[in-house]
Amino acid sequence: MCTVSIAEIFESLQGESTYAGLPCFFVRLSGCNLRCRYCDTRYAYQAGTETRIDNIVKLCRKSKAVITEITGGEPLLQPGFPALAKALRDKGGKKVLVETNGSCDISLIPDEVVAVMDVKCPGSGEKTGFDPGNIKRLRKYDEVKFVISSRADYLWSKAFLVKNLVQTRCNAVLFSPVVGKIRPELLGKWIVRDGLPVRLQVQLHKLIGVK
Ligand code: SF4
Repeated sequence: MCTVSIAEIFESLQGESTYAGLPCFFVRLSGCNLRCRYCDTRYAYQAGTETRIDNIVKLCRKSKAVITEITGGEPLLQPGFPALAKALRDKGGKKVLVETNGSCDISLIPDEVVAVMDVKCPGSGEKTGFDPGNIKRLRKYDEVKFVISSRADYLWSKAFLVKNLVQTRCNAVLFSPVVGKIRPELLGKWIVRDGLPVRLQVQLHKLIGVK
């Protein structure tokens, strides 16, 4: 029976994509290959609890949330990830999103499961962790997120966007400020001034104080 290693399963509001605000059933897989300076889920680095995929699907079906998200850590590292994503897609009864740090080949993500993929900015300390081949692997319904710590990160993200035409390859590009490092209103002003085809994204769940 196929299992995955779980850090936690919980319900909350989706906070970091165009699906933000929707009630969401979260499956957080354990383990991550990066160490971002701003990481707020360090507890997911350690090995978690081996859990049968069919039991996760049962919990998902019982949940009243309207979407499901597989997150981490870095979910694509686990051998059981594709089976979990397919099982949730086919039997979970909800739209499935996957948050990924962009370091692993996103073609592991099954059809119809939405990737919300980070491009790691220099301020994360993990810029070299990104797999550039993932830009070509994006599907029209996927989303790309830049987590921005500074003006330097903003300029780097803007240049990356222009060079790779990221916005033409996916559903949305999100610019998200690191809490305590850069004010959302400042980032918003830069986006407007430059007319960038991106959305300002605040971490909604943190803003309103839910997990
Ligand atoms: S990729 Fe995500 S889980 Fe991993 S260190 Fe960075 S922020 Fe933390």
